[in-house]
Amino acid sequence: MPLFIPAIFPIMPSTVALLGIAIMSCVMSASVLASLLRADVRGVPRWCAAYGLAAIGIVFVWADKSLPPQVGTFAAHTLFLLGGLLIAQGTREFFGRRAVSRVECVAVVAIFLAVIVLTYVEPNLDARVALTSAYFAYVRVAIGWTALRYRPRQRPKYNYYFLAIAAFVGALVHVARSVTYGFGFDHQAAFLDPSPLNVAFLGLGILSFPFLSIAMVMLAHDRLAERLERLATVDELTGALMRRAFVERAEAMIAAARVKGTPLALAILDIDNFKNVNDQYGHAAGDRALAHFGTTMLRSVRAGDLFGRLGGEEFAVLFPATHEAEALQLTNGLRAAVAAAPCAQTPFTFSAGVDEFGAGDTLAEVMARADAALYTAKALGRDCVAVASPDDEPDQRVAQPG
Ligand code: GH3
Ligand code: MG
Ligand code: MG
Repeated sequence: MPLFIPAIFPIMPSTVALLGIAIMSCVMSASVLASLLRADVRGVPRWCAAYGLAAIGIVFVWADKSLPPQVGTFAAHTLFLLGGLLIAQGTREFFGRRAVSRVECVAVVAIFLAVIVLTYVEPNLDARVALTSAYFAYVRVAIGWTALRYRPRQRPKYNYYFLAIAAFVGALVHVARSVTYGFGFDHQAAFLDPSPLNVAFLGLGILSFPFLSIAMVMLAHDRLAERLERLATVDELTGALMRRAFVERAEAMIAAARVKGTPLALAILDIDNFKNVNDQYGHAAGDRALAHFGTTMLRSVRAGDLFGRLGGEEFAVLFPATHEAEALQLTNGLRAAVAAAPCAQTPFTFSAGVDEFGAGDTLAEVMARADAALYTAKALGRDCVAVASPDDEPDQRVAQPG
């Protein structure tokens, strides 16, 4: 067995040392990503596999001189190309896009064939390095672009920008390497040529590995945090905000409306004769009806409106920048939308009471007045919307079907 270990000790060529660091770094990245496999976050298995392949690929480069000629190079390139493909696919998958791109797969096969030609048929190390570096630059640009383009807008930006910056900086290094060897600004005498420029390129390229994997772990954790936040704030059955989350966000909207001096209105909705639905069709059918109601409401409220489940089959909608009269119309529109998309097995309607915030009104006060108006709507025969009067006596302004 040729002596590649003595080649490392006692005088270790810097490129070989860098490869050792890269192997350790990829193994650590793959291990940390593997710890997230059970969390079932999309993209993570591909990321993890990519780092595993990269680690094995670098081992082949490292051991190249101890293997039959070019076997290490061939195996390493195969693994690197596949690793790059997987990491780009994993990123798209994480962001809910189609993971596999046919064009990308065809391009990888073409690059693979070109690498074979440049290794065996017409050996040209500079051209091969330029080609593979261009590919790695593409992979990093694809990762960075996907992160910026499909970043979930409601999540903190930090992790997504971190990934994009790590990817773009890595891409720059690979572009510089590709241009340097592609346009003959420098020449590689051997693949692990420890020239200062080669060491710099390898070092920077290798440094971008852990940056990318740290960013991926951050993204996966953000996805898990999002799941937990959702579990704590969104009602699983209807998709509406849970009461506590609704009240918290409503208080913030009330404060903002006060500062801006904009109007704000609230509707309280209650499904009509829901006990009958449960009694006639069973509790499971009642649940399906509530889920159907939630879907229809979420489709029908405006983008800035706040929709919450206060409890049981009672809900609330907060309308920002909206006066009482418009809120009455909007709530009646919601009533019409629910009536127009009836739940097949268990058709139902709802009644609602509407009120507008006056100067200094608290959420509890407005809720109590809207609730009183709701009871007027119920008393008027249900399937209608009533507006509260300022003196706590619901007036007769009612929006009804037809
Ligand atoms: P009204 O028109 O006066 O509102 O009549 P109602 O039958 O809807 O009256 P009430 O508000 O008293 O009844 C609400 C019913 O809703 C009682 C309860 O069993 C049912 N309910 C509350 N939460 C759920 C739920 O999560 N799932 C199901 N299936 N039923 C629920
Ligand atoms: Mg009811
Ligand atoms: Mg009720």
